[in-house]
Amino acid sequence: MADTSATREIFVTGLKNAHAMENQALSIMKPQVSRIENYPEVARRLEEHIRETEGQIARLEELLQQLDESHSSMKDMALSFTGAMAAMGHTMAGDEILKNSFANFAFENFEIAAYKSLLTVAELGGFPFATSALQTNLQEEQNMARWLDDNLRTVTMRFANLREAGESAKV
Ligand code: MG
Ligand code: FE
Repeated sequence: MADTSATREIFVTGLKNAHAMENQALSIMKPQVSRIENYPEVARRLEEHIRETEGQIARLEELLQQLDESHSSMKDMALSFTGAMAAMGHTMAGDEILKNSFANFAFENFEIAAYKSLLTVAELGGFPFATSALQTNLQEEQNMARWLDDNLRTVTMRFANLREAGESAKV
């Protein structure tokens, strides 16, 4: 299919939204990682995914540059604020680690859907230069979602054990 202006616009908007989504991801993960004490494996994996996310942002910025578009900082700011608020909402509850685990799993799956959709638009609009970067981002989200899925039982059991031991308030 030809590089019509409508498809190009859908693609550019999708890339800008993905850029905002990744900044939101950082604003969700960073406060979490700074608070974790009792779940070092979760903290390590979040730190790793924070670094991956910074790479994802760089890839998206490069794609937007190749399309001669700069990213939308206004939209990013609004979404980042929402993310920070979402993370803060869990901090007062004793089961913060569980709620964050559910929210992180949901967020990774949101990201997976976004990159699958972007790959489809890239195909429709004829933007093959974007495929490899988007596939890399998608793969990292799928790996993170799988890790969270695999780790949910471990986190839940540790939470229950710590509560038994009277450590309920610690993340
Ligand atoms: Mg991401
Ligand atoms: Fe992610």
